[in-house]
Amino acid sequence: VTMQSCARCRFVVYPAEKINCIDQNWHKACFHCDVCKMVLTANNFVSHKKRPYCSVHNPRNNTFTSVYETPININAKKQTKASSERIYCREREREEDATDRLIQILNTAWYAP
Ligand SMILES: [Zn+2]
Ligand SMILES: [Zn+2]
Repeated sequence: VTMQSCARCRFVVYPAEKINCIDQNWHKACFHCDVCKMVLTANNFVSHKKRPYCSVHNPRNNTFTSVYETPININAKKQTKASSERIYCREREREEDATDRLIQILNTAWYAP
């Protein structure tokens, strides 16, 4: 009998903790969405390129393309944008997001050298 190993963590999977999906063996706890880590069951997963996903992160929906675009991260990004003020840069003659590249001298914004 060859020991079966988990498709995610590569450790041995014993029958009691095994879930067989997408032609691979997984620990029940390892069979989670590749994006949000939500533990999945044989009934609610979506497979894409032999990886499991929850229905929200089904890559075929193309809503989420990478691990970095999770709702939490997107929210954080929005908040960062909202909180950064717009500054008019003399040099570029347009408004820029206030970043550390911009310096303000005499109420005028410039790009830091
Ligand atoms: Zn595992
Ligand atoms: Zn997910």
